[in-house]
Amino acid sequence: MSFKQLGLAPPLLRAVEESGYERPTPIQTQAIPPALAGRDILGCAQTGTGKTAAFSLPILQRLDASAGDEPSLRSLIVTPTRELAAQIGASMSTYGKHLELWHTVVFGGVSDKPQIHELREGVDALVATPGRLLDLMNRGEIDLSSIEVFVLDEADQMLDMGFLPDIRRIVAKLPRERQTMFFSATMPGSIRELAQTLLVDPVEVAVARISEPADVEQRIYFVDKGDKRKLLLDLLRQDTSVERSLVFSRTKHGANRIAKHLSGAGIMTAAIHGNKSQGARTRALDAFRSGELRVLVATDIAARGLDIDAVSHVINFDLPNVPETYVHRIGRTARAGASGIAISFCDLEEREYLVDIERLIRKHIPRVEDHGYPPSQSSPAMTDLERKSGGGDGKRKDGSSGGGERRGGRRPSRGRRSGSRRPR
Ligand code: AMP
Repeated sequence: MSFKQLGLAPPLLRAVEESGYERPTPIQTQAIPPALAGRDILGCAQTGTGKTAAFSLPILQRLDASAGDEPSLRSLIVTPTRELAAQIGASMSTYGKHLELWHTVVFGGVSDKPQIHELREGVDALVATPGRLLDLMNRGEIDLSSIEVFVLDEADQMLDMGFLPDIRRIVAKLPRERQTMFFSATMPGSIRELAQTLLVDPVEVAVARISEPADVEQRIYFVDKGDKRKLLLDLLRQDTSVERSLVFSRTKHGANRIAKHLSGAGIMTAAIHGNKSQGARTRALDAFRSGELRVLVATDIAARGLDIDAVSHVINFDLPNVPETYVHRIGRTARAGASGIAISFCDLEEREYLVDIERLIRKHIPRVEDHGYPPSQSSPAMTDLERKSGGGDGKRKDGSSGGGERRGGRRPSRGRRSGSRRPR
């Protein structure tokens, strides 16, 4: 399934392509077509599954189709935390960059003046946390009477945080005639009840929680991007227990470079990816299975469906930006009851992927600090889990003290532009 087959308009397809997404995630495949058709959606999916694009892309398409000369507030996305709000805002900017639409993000804990200024300038979509939204509604700065699409994101977290009364007050001000998309990571009875009061004949979409394979020992090496190949070579040279390792590379070129580097250093390696002929792939796999090759470097697509037993190590040379992919990758080792080891290299830019991965597997992956290529950035941003467990010195990349809920190193975006400004 491709994004094009989902029915998305060319400007959105371009944006998705420029984001480097090759194909829709399961939640996107399931939710985008009915959402584009105007159906209500009940989505059981957590952060990290691609659900932001699953609702943002259809919203942007709908807003664009009915855009007038002036922006008018037609879509509202309510999410529990400012970090999520900022991320959704950033995603709307990314996906809507070829459209002439405007959005802004409002959340508490910061001055409301810039937010009010942007609202007064006019926006087509608003991403908000409940408290600040209600506050600005009560002060007459936000009018929800023209909302066509409403999204309630992370509903279970919203209820946990005691936002139910706020949500009811917000919903009371929405037009009855509207499209509603409701997302929650879990669907206990209380959430279903709330959903029933908001949705009309919804299409239910769900992506199962993927759990991590039980017997895989996981480790993270923080390392600069430019040192990854040297670190890999070190590991392979020093650790003879790395008998048969599958190395994952995000790109085909990357896979070729890694294979060349290792082969040049005398380690029997081959790469498999989409640009290799079927014959070359089969030969590489046979040689890997027979033990002739110690290392097979693969892209995610090439590795799909590969059934190779006795992979002692999975090495993530690059961390995947979709956390489920991490779980799929590490499941390549520890097959059939054997135990396996998953080693992941994480450079500074990949920190946010690590946050998503640890959030998905609900576990802190142990760090290996004592290695030959420590990262040059001495005080890297901590992940959520590190901060929650009280690790580190509490400093973040941006020098601020950091709140417990902030996700990774992403900077909140207050950019309100989804595309270039519509001429007035
Ligand atoms: P979300 O669940 O919306 O927080 O998305 C999780 C991460 O997946 C984000 O970093 C997105 O940029 C990324 N993502 C979303 N859709 C795709 C896709 N189709 N292919 C690859 N990455 C994606």
